[in-house]
Amino acid sequence: MARYQKIKKISKQRFNSARETGMKIYLNGRLLDKSDAKISVFDHGLLYGDGVFEGIRSYNCLIFRLKDHIERLYNSAAAIMLESPLSKEGMVEAIVKTLKANKLKDAYIRVVITRGEGDLGLDPRKCKNPSIFIIADKIALYPEEFYKKGLEINTVPTRRNINEALSPQIKSLNYLNNIMAKLEAINCKVEEALMLTQDGYLCECSGDNIFLVKGSKLLTPQTSMGILAGITRAAIMDIAVKRNMAVSEAMLTRYDLFSADEVFLTGTAAEIIPVVKIDGRRINNGKPGNITLVLKEEFSKLTKIDGYRYSL
Ligand code: PMP
Repeated sequence: MARYQKIKKISKQRFNSARETGMKIYLNGRLLDKSDAKISVFDHGLLYGDGVFEGIRSYNCLIFRLKDHIERLYNSAAAIMLESPLSKEGMVEAIVKTLKANKLKDAYIRVVITRGEGDLGLDPRKCKNPSIFIIADKIALYPEEFYKKGLEINTVPTRRNINEALSPQIKSLNYLNNIMAKLEAINCKVEEALMLTQDGYLCECSGDNIFLVKGSKLLTPQTSMGILAGITRAAIMDIAVKRNMAVSEAMLTRYDLFSADEVFLTGTAAEIIPVVKIDGRRINNGKPGNITLVLKEEFSKLTKIDGYRYSL
């Protein structure tokens, strides 16, 4: 190996290990080094995807719509009869503690509640102590160029879980439905997968909600279609209403998608990202639309004022 490459490799290893030892993870009331934060192989969160989670962002020491994320987390837990060892207030404290320990003003925060350690059977009653862990880190879901140029996505054969089997409103640790869809997108060499309902209506992407712009109207699949009620989705709908746009939650078809003026996705990690090609059809001549860009700009303003403030 050339000397220069060797030095580069060693300094990269040093950089990584420094970052690893520096990161603190909240695990069941304690802040631990990343390498010490461990969960049992008997935890049903791992064995069965039995648990719930949230993905949250903080912007310059403001945790965006934290109250809504906490509500959704506790609603998900209630739906699977999982009692959080922390109260909602305790959970907020634990999140802030994790951000402070990692000295993060801007972060992506992952909060997970697992069923806890049990035996090899399914019975959740055997899991006496649910586990809570919180990771606060940086995240860039897509490279910056996609925010400027827009994404290419496909509708995929994997249908979204039906409400009657496992409601997509529950943000559970079982994301295989979404991962199957994502694999199909990857196999087609596009960035994201749009899942349809059993009846073929538009539903949601593997980790994002979808919006269509038609004229001056904003359209998005209704929650009864079996989508996660996204917090970014709600924020965009609030912004559009304030700007006097007509907003409608509807049953939408692939034709609506192909004939839309603009399309974009929303999610905590992705934020607002334009879509310029779907199933090979170009949207808005393959360019991010103006309304999308205005809403994206307004969303960015909202992240400066709407949230839970903390100090480092
Ligand atoms: N749908 C799914 C399946 C998701 O995982 C996410 C990300 N949490 C979203 C939509 C977007 O929701 P939010 O805006 O609350 O992050």
